This record gives sequence, structure tokens and C-alpha cells, in this order.
Amino acid sequence: MTRAAKRRAWYPWRMTDPNCIFCKIVAGEIQAEKVYEDDTYLAFLDIRPLSPGHTLIIPKAHERWVWDVADLGGYFGVARKIAKALQKISGTDEVHMKVVGEEIPHAHVWVYPASDKAHGKKSDLPANAAALRAALA
Ligand SMILES: [Zn+2]
Repeated sequence: MTRAAKRRAWYPWRMTDPNCIFCKIVAGEIQAEKVYEDDTYLAFLDIRPLSPGHTLIIPKAHERWVWDVADLGGYFGVARKIAKALQKISGTDEVHMKVVGEEIPHAHVWVYPASDKAHGKKSDLPANAAALRAALA
């Protein structure tokens, strides 16, 4: 085990990058429409949504790629929760997931309903976040 991996295993919450916008959202330094949070993951609405309820799910620790997240099953389990909630509120079962990750150097996945089938206004982030939080409750 490398020194960095050991540090990450013992102090995952300290693994942040001060210049990373997603780490700043985790720390509460930048506002976001949060829809889900647990000890390890955070989900919030994308500020440039492709469709109503377009959500980003990130590990709270600063991991570069999705493939660096230790518990990938737990991570995708959170993505499924969000996807199921989006199915409830968007009026379509067609919910997409996208893993790319070159825009922001902090692991993230997109989960969003099909833009031509989803109900609602994609730019209304507060209303979409409220609906998603209610569906997740
Ligand atoms: Zn980060």
C-alpha cells in the first residue's frame, strides 16, 4: 500500500483539494441544491441541467476518477436511489447515467431523466431539488 493510499484509508475526510469546486461544495463553501447526503457521498443538482432533476453524485473525498472510489457498489447504489426517485418525479422510467469526468477533476456521475420525456422545467433547480428530496424521503 502506498503512503497516499494509507493516508486515504485512515483519513478519508481529510482528502480534499482546496482548488476543487466539488470539494468546496462538500465543505459548504459553495452553495448547491443538495438532494442526498450520507457519510461518504453527496448528490446535488447540476447547474447546467440536461433535463429536470439532472443530478451529480460525488464521493465526499477528493477522488480523481470514479474508478478510484473504493466502494464502487455503494457509490452506484446511491446513483440507483437517485435514479429511482427521478423515475417517480419525472414521469418517465428512462433515466440515464453518464460517467465521463474530464470537466471537473473530482469523481462524479450524472443521473438524469431523458430530456424529451421528463416533465418539468429543467432550469427550476429549487423546485426540482425539493421534488427530488421529497421522493427520496
Ligand atoms: Zn475535489
